[in-house]
Amino acid sequence: MTLILLLSIVAIANVHSWTLDYAGAKQISSPHFNRGRQGQAITCLVLHGTAGGGTIEWFKNPASKVSAHYVVGQDGSVTQMVSEDDTAWHNGVVTTNSQFYGRPNPNLWCMGIEFSRNIQNNNVMPEVQIQAGIRLVADIKRRYKGINIYTHDQFSVGRTCPGPNFPLARFKNA
Ligand SMILES: [Zn+2]
Repeated sequence: MTLILLLSIVAIANVHSWTLDYAGAKQISSPHFNRGRQGQAITCLVLHGTAGGGTIEWFKNPASKVSAHYVVGQDGSVTQMVSEDDTAWHNGVVTTNSQFYGRPNPNLWCMGIEFSRNIQNNNVMPEVQIQAGIRLVADIKRRYKGINIYTHDQFSVGRTCPGPNFPLARFKNA
């Protein structure tokens, strides 16, 4: 009984309650985040493509040590996994040849959206997924005036993320 109570307290300490920032999302928390932004303003939105789907389970898996604020499924579902007020773990590696090299950890000043894609990370994305992404990006742009939209491979140069056939212009124009 005491042990169960103790374990419950430890479990609660690893999460904190937060509310959805985007009304079009459902909430499934990832344990992979840091509280707050260490004083950094949110000026950046990073778009990712996740090869092979399974993204939500992966962001919950303690082995992954990765997360993003939002996951957009190929069926157009939107899931928020980390509060926008907190630092998700999606964009922490900056290569020396990136324009962002030498700046504070981008996770602190960026928001992250993962789009589930095919196993090669190169499919033409379903229109329902693109439309869901456009609605989400438009909502973020409305709430964070002047936010810059980038792709993961602009930080980790050489990485295939979000991958070929990614409709970046449509999201930038959202
Ligand atoms: Zn990525």
